[in-house]
Amino acid sequence: MIKINDLHKSYKMGNSSLHVLKGIDFEVAEGELVAIMGSSGSGKSTLLNIIGMLDIANSGVYELDEVPIKDLDETKAAQYRNKFLGFVFQSFNLINYKSALENVALPLYYQGIKRKERQQKSLDYLEKVGLKDWATHLPNELSGGQKQRVAIARALASQPKVLLADEPTGALDTTTSYEVMDLIQKINEEGKTILVVTHEHDIAKMCKRIVTLKDGVIVQDKKVNQELASKYV
Ligand code: ADP
Ligand code: MG
Repeated sequence: MIKINDLHKSYKMGNSSLHVLKGIDFEVAEGELVAIMGSSGSGKSTLLNIIGMLDIANSGVYELDEVPIKDLDETKAAQYRNKFLGFVFQSFNLINYKSALENVALPLYYQGIKRKERQQKSLDYLEKVGLKDWATHLPNELSGGQKQRVAIARALASQPKVLLADEPTGALDTTTSYEVMDLIQKINEEGKTILVVTHEHDIAKMCKRIVTLKDGVIVQDKKVNQELASKYV
């Protein structure tokens, strides 16, 4: 699904530059649930943003579903992003003046899906994350965990091949974090490929594989015995 070879990324800072990713080799097969770990500043978000086509590398190879990403023009890249990738962020990124349902429906609107189908799909995905009864509520009427579940429903509604989550539990307390991980595990069990950036070990252990970044390189890549979040919720 994802193939990365000798990937480098630097940020320009005036005259100097900051070399953040220093030769990343990384592959993810369909259906994996991978944690990307590392301390703050180790390049986790940079890597995830490149995988998510929100940013581009300076050199190296990146293939998503066998398509080399470098060669795509902006329009193609946007199409690819919509079709292949779903995003979940630490800060939820919901639109405050729109209901849960409208938040889930918005990307579908931009994809040209008709109103009726949009509504139905959005409701289906809210139901999937256990929030059907909250469809008309605004984000500020929802708890942190509920907000993140709306964000997950929004990401899933476009039926992406890969779900990318950058510190999805970073703003949540422990119990709520495990609830969100329980949902992520269930989505993965249905076959979705998921990458979770985290710096918390208990969250990483709930994935099936842990990739550790340090100073811009992968220092460890290991399969783990997945801990089920359901036993904590
Ligand atoms: P992590 O997600 O692991 O905390 P990041 O990928 O966000 O790490 O950042 C890695 C390094 O790159 C940090 O030193 C950070 O300050 C720097 N960095 C990230 N984004 C930018 C940017 N847009 N411009 C300049 N430096 C950046
Ligand atoms: Mg980060």
